[in-house]
This record gives sequence, structure tokens and C-alpha cells, in this order.
Amino acid sequence: MINFAYARATDVADAVRRIAADPKAKFIAGGTNLIDLMKEDVERPTRLIDITRLPLKSVEETRDGGVRIGALVPNSDLAYHPLVAQRYPLLASAILAGASQQLRNMASTGGNLLQRTRCSYFYDTAMPCNKREPGSGCSAIEGINRMHAILGTSDACIATHPSDMCVALTVLEATVHVAGPGGERTMAFADFHRLPGDTPQRDTNLQPNEIVTAVELPARGFASNYTYLKIRDRLSYAFALVSVAVGMELDGGTIREARLALGGVAHKPWRDPAAEAILAGQRPSADQFQRAADLLLRDARGFAHNAFKIDLARRAIVRALTQAAQGTAQSQSNKKIR
Ligand SMILES: Cc1cc2nc3c(=O)[nH]c(=O)nc-3n(C[C@H](O)[C@H](O)[C@H](O)COP(=O)(O)OP(=O)(O)OC[C@H]3O[C@@H](n4cnc5c(N)ncnc54)[C@H](O)[C@@H]3O)c2cc1C
Ligand code: SF4
Repeated sequence: MINFAYARATDVADAVRRIAADPKAKFIAGGTNLIDLMKEDVERPTRLIDITRLPLKSVEETRDGGVRIGALVPNSDLAYHPLVAQRYPLLASAILAGASQQLRNMASTGGNLLQRTRCSYFYDTAMPCNKREPGSGCSAIEGINRMHAILGTSDACIATHPSDMCVALTVLEATVHVAGPGGERTMAFADFHRLPGDTPQRDTNLQPNEIVTAVELPARGFASNYTYLKIRDRLSYAFALVSVAVGMELDGGTIREARLALGGVAHKPWRDPAAEAILAGQRPSADQFQRAADLLLRDARGFAHNAFKIDLARRAIVRALTQAAQGTAQSQSNKKIR
């Protein structure tokens, strides 16, 4: 039995005070990731700070036409919220592609951003893992690495970030609101998660004494032409081998803007402006989509068991862009773009 203390935060300032006072404390929201990690002895917080009663559960329109999502809004409520379902269906699709209904009912918006990798060696305390124990080594590089990263890896870690929701938030260019002892600040979503480098123990740029309070979506939701395509080993209750989020704006049959991000392939959702730039001003075509895929994957590198992800990602990108251009969203399309 590993003992830990439990306290309930009364407001955001109290939550920040409590986390700042104890470097080994952890916030608990839905608990769907943290409790598993505690049971496996991967996380050993001395204190759990329960944030579930904080007033961070609303989804509200902002003055500039966007939407602010409280950090404690459950994933299910968010996916089915009318503002999100109608204006940001890409986000709704990505959320609904994740986990199971029961988990989505418990999982919070903030917790989804901060969920940890599903690398099996990270969960296995008998094996070396630089993320769990810095300096101990990475068991995945020479081990079973079928689920691991092909982009942005380092010699210290080749883990992926497992979230679906975060891939859509990357394409939507969301902003993360956080509060800490020094006050409030915002971070562009692209800057929230980190690549492993030589500090794979740090997943994000959130400071240990900060709390995520909200995620804000700008007004543009790409509600007509979008796709979240998730490729996985079975159709539900499985993490992505590769996923692709696309938001596109068309103008008389020409692409005005296309955004795309990959999940399941890196330590953070993977986006590259160069791959998007070559689509702007073009008519949708399989050749053009193939070129964008090649650019997005130009630095991809496979390991012993996951090299298949490079081809899989290439095909998934072309399919997702095709579906988005046709306005077919999640469904598989038989129509061919020429
Ligand atoms: C079997 C299974 C399958 C799953 N499949 C998928 C999937 O396919 N796709 C997918 O995207 N996800 C999947 N998930 C992950 C699930 O979405 C996450 O576990 C969930 O989103 C975490 O949210 P939570 O509120 O339960 O977080 P918690 O477990 O409570 O917390 C997770 C971490 O976030 C920190 N935290 C929580 N809230 C805040 C905050 N506001 N500020 C700062 N820190 C905070 C906690 O301290 C902790 O470190 C799956 C989970 C399970 C168990
Ligand atoms: S890939 Fe990262 S999380 Fe997995 S064993 Fe290596 S260091 Fe640990």
C-alpha cells in the first residue's frame, strides 16, 4: 500500500497554492489516466489535489466569435455540445474516435491534454524508461516499437502522444489558458506539447505549479470541409496507429487554405506549414495531396516494427484530404478526385 494525501481545491487560486506548496502533488480530474498510472506504480504522487469541483465546466462563446472550453468539461459533453457539434465538427469527430463512451464521460478536457504516453515500457516498472526514470535508457528503441513514433524522435525516447482530441485542436489553432503562482498566461496549442529531445520526462511546457483552466477555439471551425481519420487495430477502444485531422477552406473549387496534423506518429501532434502551403491556391487532386503527404513525412524514420506507419500515414493523409475536399468528413468515400 502506497499512502498519499487527498485534498479538494476550493477555487483555482487554492489549487495553484496547493500544487505550488508540494512538488510531488498531482491534480486529479477524471482520474482515467492518473489512477491507472498510480495502480501500476508509474506515478507516485504524495498528494492528490481534487479539482473536480472547480468552476471550469462551461463551454461559452467568446466576444471574437470563438469558443472557450473549461478544463473540466467532460469529453462527451464537449463532443455533443451544440456549439462544438455544429461549428467545430472536426473536434467532435476526434473526441468521439477516442476511448469508449464511459471513459469519455469521465475524461476532462485538461486531462486529455495531459494524458501520458501509452508506451508499454513506460507502464512496466521492471524495464528501463527515460520518461519514467531519466537516464535509465529507452527500452523501445531496440524493443517492440510497433506503436511508436516515426517523427520528431530522439535517442532518449520514441514515444507518441496518444490523444485524438489534441490532433484536432492543433489544426484548429486553439489556445491553452493556464494559471500559476505568477498569474494567468496563454500558450498556442502548438507550443503546449514538447518533442522528447533529451528531456523526455517533460511532456508539455506547462510548469509543475500551473493548472490548465481552459482551451479556447478561434472563430474558424472548418465546419464544411474537414475530416478526422483514425487508423487503429480495431474500430473502438484503441489508440491510433496513425490519425489525420484536416480542416480545409475551398473557394470555387480551389483550396484557399488546408491545415493538416497527424496523431500517433510523434511525441506531439505533427504539423508542418510547408505541407499546407503547397495546397493553397490549388485544385484538389490526388497528385497534389500525395505531394503534401510526402512533404509532411519527409523526415519520417521507422524502427524495427513501425516502419509500416510511414506508408500508412501517406495513404491516410491522401484519403483524409480527399474526404475533406469532398465534404465527406468521417466516412470512407468511393468518389475519386482527379
Ligand atoms: C482504456 C483507455 C482507452 C483510451 N483511449 C483513448 C483514445 O483512443 N484516444 C484518446 O485521446 N484518449 C484515450 N484515452 C485516454 C483518455 O482520454 C484520458 O485518460 C483522459 O482524457 C484523461 O482525462 P482525465 O480527466 O481522466 O485525467 P486525469 O487522469 O485526472 O489526469 C491526467 C493528468 O492530467 C493532469 N491534469 C488533469 N487536469 C488538469 C488540469 N486542469 N491542469 C493541469 N493538470 C491536469 C493530472 O494531474 C494527470 O497528470 C483512453 C484511456 C483509457 C483508460
Ligand atoms: S519510448 Fe519513451 S516512454 Fe517508451 S521506453 Fe523509451 S523513453 Fe520510455
